[in-house]
Amino acid sequence: MRSAILTTVVLAFVIVVAFVFAAPIIRTLDARLNGTDSPAPTSARSQELHARLWIADLHCDATLWNRPLLERSPRGHVDLPRLIDGNVALQVFSLANKYPLGANYRRTPNGIDLMGTLAIANRWPRATWSSPLERVIHQAGIVQRAVHDSDSRLVMIRNSRDLATLSGARRGDGVGALLSVEGLHVPQDDVGAIDRLYEMGVRIFGIAHMSDNDVGGSAHGWRKGGLTVFGKRVVARIDSLGAVVDLAHASDSTIEDVLAISTRPVLVSHTGVDGTCPGERNLSDDHVRRIAARGGIIGVGFWRGAVCGDDAAAIARAMRYAARIAGVNAVSLGSDFDGAVHTPFDAAGLVVLTEALIEEGFTDEEIARIMGLNALEFFLRALPPD
Ligand SMILES: [Zn+2]
Repeated sequence: MRSAILTTVVLAFVIVVAFVFAAPIIRTLDARLNGTDSPAPTSARSQELHARLWIADLHCDATLWNRPLLERSPRGHVDLPRLIDGNVALQVFSLANKYPLGANYRRTPNGIDLMGTLAIANRWPRATWSSPLERVIHQAGIVQRAVHDSDSRLVMIRNSRDLATLSGARRGDGVGALLSVEGLHVPQDDVGAIDRLYEMGVRIFGIAHMSDNDVGGSAHGWRKGGLTVFGKRVVARIDSLGAVVDLAHASDSTIEDVLAISTRPVLVSHTGVDGTCPGERNLSDDHVRRIAARGGIIGVGFWRGAVCGDDAAAIARAMRYAARIAGVNAVSLGSDFDGAVHTPFDAAGLVVLTEALIEEGFTDEEIARIMGLNALEFFLRALPPD
């Protein structure tokens, strides 16, 4: 009884503190966790090539930090003005929804969920405090409102027809926004949750995040199992909706199970490759090759845990390795911008990566493919037609 009272008092205290100091806490976290290096000078040759590219990035977490997506912020990595500065045509907005206390790449317990505290500090609706699914729905709403208020400068992409229109548009006619979910922490046996997320505009479904869930195992999970019986039904439902499975953060067994039962191309939205950065977080050569062989794409991340380096050259090296073993057509950008990672540049500074790819020896055509055309062709094939 005493411990129940104590828990209630502590919980009330946390909620009050989170509410009172919410804005400065989030700003401080955002500035500390989502840092970048100061902008690096680039050559006229890089700038000229960059200006001609159609650019797509497969993963950012910009909805977590209480920043207006349509205004330029001095913190973090992604907002519409910086996407436009970086010449980005398509940005995937990923909706993370659970982050256990003690999360780490090796073995994450399924304990206290810090995302609940973030939801309170962000002053999200009460339902999001305890429900990962409600957090996804709320964040989808953040992107949808930004699209609505953007005067067509940010455009929701729901199908391949929307994407074909976007890719045919004149430059400056809007940045495409595509929604993904990072970790299917949906109630056990609720396959209907997939349909609800699809209705909200989610087209990319990441099975796992930092911890195992009722759908499948995480590469960083406690058990690191494969798809559950429920998970196999979930993947079948994603397939039948014509949506895309994202294998970022998935355990090896989950990757194997999805490759065995899914009939559609898959992607890995943000990852490294073992060939330049071995570890739990990154893909084996075998998985890189097999995902590419069935028409999948691999978004190479921009942070140290993905590429074992802090500069654009490390990103370009990982891309070179993936291209060498799986073909250049499988390689894309998977920044993890705003994902509590330090990156060498923000969305506005993507020309630094174009320059690193030139220095790595990629041709202009190969750079155009990596920077966006691979993703464009993938989504034109993999998204539902309408
Ligand atoms: Zn992630």
